[in-house]
Amino acid sequence: MGLLSQGSPLSWEETKRHADHVRRHGILQFLHIYHAVKDRHKDVLKWGDEVEYMLVSFDHENKRVQLVLSGEEVLETLQEKGERTNPNHPTLWRPEYGSYMIEGTPGQPYGGTMSEFNTVEDNMRQRRKEATSLLKENQALCTITSFPRLGCPGFTLPEFKPNPVEGGASRSLFFPDEAINKHPRFSTLTRNIRHRRGEKVVINAPIFKDKNTPSPFIEKFPEDDEAAKASKPDHIYMDAMGFGMGNCCLQVTFQACSISEARYLYDQLATICPIVMALSAASPFYRGYVSDVDCRWGVISASVDDRTREERGLEPLKNNNYRISKSRYDSIDSYLSECGEKYNDIDLTIDKEIYEQLLQEGIDHLLAQHVAHLFIRDPLTLFEEKIHLDDANESDHFENIQSTNWQTMRFKPPPPNSDIGWRVEFRPMEVQLTDFENSAYVVFVVLLTRVILSYKLDFLIPLSKVDENMKVAQKRDAVLQGMFYFRKDICKGGNAVVDGCGKAQQSVELAAEEHEEYALMSIDTIINGKEGVFPGLIPILNCYLENMEVDVDTRCSILNYLKLIKKRASGELMTVAKWMREFIANHPDYKQDSVITDQINYSLILKCNQIANELCECPELLGPAFRRVRYSGSKTDSSN
Ligand code: GLU
Ligand code: MG
Repeated sequence: MGLLSQGSPLSWEETKRHADHVRRHGILQFLHIYHAVKDRHKDVLKWGDEVEYMLVSFDHENKRVQLVLSGEEVLETLQEKGERTNPNHPTLWRPEYGSYMIEGTPGQPYGGTMSEFNTVEDNMRQRRKEATSLLKENQALCTITSFPRLGCPGFTLPEFKPNPVEGGASRSLFFPDEAINKHPRFSTLTRNIRHRRGEKVVINAPIFKDKNTPSPFIEKFPEDDEAAKASKPDHIYMDAMGFGMGNCCLQVTFQACSISEARYLYDQLATICPIVMALSAASPFYRGYVSDVDCRWGVISASVDDRTREERGLEPLKNNNYRISKSRYDSIDSYLSECGEKYNDIDLTIDKEIYEQLLQEGIDHLLAQHVAHLFIRDPLTLFEEKIHLDDANESDHFENIQSTNWQTMRFKPPPPNSDIGWRVEFRPMEVQLTDFENSAYVVFVVLLTRVILSYKLDFLIPLSKVDENMKVAQKRDAVLQGMFYFRKDICKGGNAVVDGCGKAQQSVELAAEEHEEYALMSIDTIINGKEGVFPGLIPILNCYLENMEVDVDTRCSILNYLKLIKKRASGELMTVAKWMREFIANHPDYKQDSVITDQINYSLILKCNQIANELCECPELLGPAFRRVRYSGSKTDSSN
């Protein structure tokens, strides 16, 4: 989760004193990088995924499951046995926010050949195996987006009581500081966000009203005025960064061949974020309750919202410079490519001085305003030893601001003096239970970039519409119920996008006759297409694949991945969120009151772990016996 500097972290008051210094030098560092590599071309296409994991421990006797606070030790061993022993080790491990979390990526980025799509899942399996082998008895590595009883009494192993007094990091009534990763970045971020904001963070996720859920649903906090005021009726109240950043996701980073290709991909993929987020929905439960949202996005957004009351528009501006309309963790606010310019319809708050400076340095309006927008934020962490840097050869101050703008997409300049190219990161996806699903989502997004670039597709719609889509995407069952703004004519370049794909071609022409550029569509229409309305992303991917040379085994894997996406979009298969909801609803202990008890949680996570380790099938989530399909082609020595 961003820049990991070592050293002595400064308090918020001290950090604030250096904020202008960090911004000023951050911009100089950006300029050095920009001027050095702006004309770099012909970088090759590379990409990689990031999977975030939770460590859990089962107590089978008492039917409980807890999050194990051993992430730091497990990480240390993984790195020691892995990258530090062998620079070509196939996996890389990084810390994440929770002390019960770790993050894994492939050791080397993947390249542009089709056969690499067939190695993604094996690499994810290797990661799962490596980390699992270091766990103690009854412990497991889980890829669940949100732990249903996060913040409930005794949810960690060892257990800790939250200590809601000043002096610690989050002052939470529910989430003990011991559950935060011990690297000082994470607790400092937590404390400084709270201090900058002037109060604890406030997260209110709507409760799902079941038959026996009290209505209105009101939690009482008689001993805590702040919580009593901040908690909303009919909502699940949470008060710490850990409720958001303590969730797991699945991300993909692409290296483009040039800065302009990166800007183009950034824009195109931004429109896809809400669609793929809804398709990957996997987080319906918070603090032991069933919520009415299926995705983590809004919860994380509120969990790191460091804006003051003035910046949020609740008080007149006095001590702050701007009204700021979104949290640091939110959707992007401006397109970066020339074709995106006319769709930039969101009011953009920018640092005007920085904007002017960037223009004077020869940076174009769109990139200048993007950077000047990121730089309205203050640095949240600063290490005493890292204040004075060599701007020509370091980029920590730039990265400080950049990496705490957690948006749906991230535009990433190359690090100084490296052979890495311009990259974009796709960040909205929720992590899935199995390596198969995670591979499917990753491969789907990577293939989409292939067709976007090869066919010069254009998905752009006004950015305000993408924001509306983000809101819809998080709602319960958005994948089937939600309607999303989507561009009707995605190949307006007039090229023969889907050669040999008559149906798609015809639909595109039909759509082009109408006037409006975009329409409300279901995810099924967007993904699978609808005669006369929209060609569908999967049919376009299939056309692309037909024209590519792909070995049989890889093709088989890709087809299985696309089948999963297709069926999740049509409703033939459930999203993880929906499957979890049904599991709870059918649990004998569930009282239709929106409460997830320790026992229900135990059954659910146990089942998730069995599914992830292929100890049981789950056709409603994954389709019938999907494993056999894949293995029949590739494994000769398999025992089945
Ligand atoms: N865990 C965060 C999420 O679920 C992302 C943290 C990161 O940027 O790595 O979105
Ligand atoms: Mg991460």
